[in-house]
Amino acid sequence: MNDPYETDQLDVPSRILMGPGPSMISPRVRQAMSAPALGYMDPDFLDVLNDVQELLRYTFQTDNKWTLAISGTGTAAMEASIGNLVEPGDTMLVRTNGYWGDRMAQMARRVGGEVVPLDVPATTPVAPADVEAAFAEHDIDVFGFCHADTTTGIRQPDVSELADIARDHDAYTIMDCVTSLSGVEIRVDEWGVDVAYGSPQKCLSCTPGVTPLTVNDRARERILNRESDPTSWYLDLAGVMDYWGDDPSYHHTPPTSALYGLREALRIVAEEGLERRWERHREVAGELVAGLEGLGLELFPDRDHWLPSLNTVRVPDSVDDTAVIEFLLSEYDIEIASGLGDLSGELWRIGCMGHSARPQNVAALLCAMEEALEAQNYDTGGPIEI
Ligand SMILES: *Cc1c(COP(=O)(O)O)cnc(C)c1O
Repeated sequence: MNDPYETDQLDVPSRILMGPGPSMISPRVRQAMSAPALGYMDPDFLDVLNDVQELLRYTFQTDNKWTLAISGTGTAAMEASIGNLVEPGDTMLVRTNGYWGDRMAQMARRVGGEVVPLDVPATTPVAPADVEAAFAEHDIDVFGFCHADTTTGIRQPDVSELADIARDHDAYTIMDCVTSLSGVEIRVDEWGVDVAYGSPQKCLSCTPGVTPLTVNDRARERILNRESDPTSWYLDLAGVMDYWGDDPSYHHTPPTSALYGLREALRIVAEEGLERRWERHREVAGELVAGLEGLGLELFPDRDHWLPSLNTVRVPDSVDDTAVIEFLLSEYDIEIASGLGDLSGELWRIGCMGHSARPQNVAALLCAMEEALEAQNYDTGGPIEI
């Protein structure tokens, strides 16, 4: 440990971040974040807000008026979505045997909601038939699901079918696309999702602190016509929109530097083009998976549900997963992560997001991984070809 009084300016290593987030921050974003401070009502700052909203509409593929960045990380946007859509006594459907579903369920209960559990094995996405069956059996108001599950590396297909089922039952959908926004195809309007939130520090390669959120007119009406106020004052969307709306007034001070960064990160997305960006993630992560398979490792999800932004592979029986993670970090400054919760010790989670999703990072990781595995006498089948 350093003695903080004995050190000079902050000096941190430059890591290759290939974990479940954060990803590496684009140099352009870091530069934008060092711009001078502006007051939150300064006309020049209001222009920044406006740019962020417009670029977020593109990134989410939506025309939603209520499209903004919530102060806080992805979890704050999750809490804002649930805390505004769920009223005391309402029922929320969520898959319960999963890390994020479990977090959603806790939030729903804390605002007085009742949770209907959707029991799906961790190795599969949610099937429309199971959702249909849950709706047939229960009176459900809100259905929350994860589009890109960062614990399992599974991508949820059939989103528009899930949203249709909910709408046919006068219910609302909340889609967690924290790990997919700008890295994997998302079309909020076309898919008919009511509320969706992303994250800046995953595929957008921005600093954590402000989180993209979009709410369609249908969900907005429900929120504006609640019988009781949301329990959180800070995350009350009607109040937050007083600042992000047409005639801005103070609600709380926004994280200004983080918003400068988000604006730049979204400009980078628009410059690259969403579809090209999705394709780049598929290509680069495809090389990563092929390389890992070349080392004898096995992809955890079915190929059909593979999530390019977060690749999960099984840890071979004879190998110590944390020793490999520590080796990569200490020898090569590369970060990957172990399994979470029930999957602890079973998987490695290897992100391929935004600015981190580049061939040179994949090549470095594969070489380092080969060395780490061989250090544990695991037979990788000879030198890898990259
Ligand atoms: C990372 C993540 C979150 C939480 O985001 P924080 O920024 O850590 O608060 C929520 N959902 C998913 C799927 C995530 O991967």
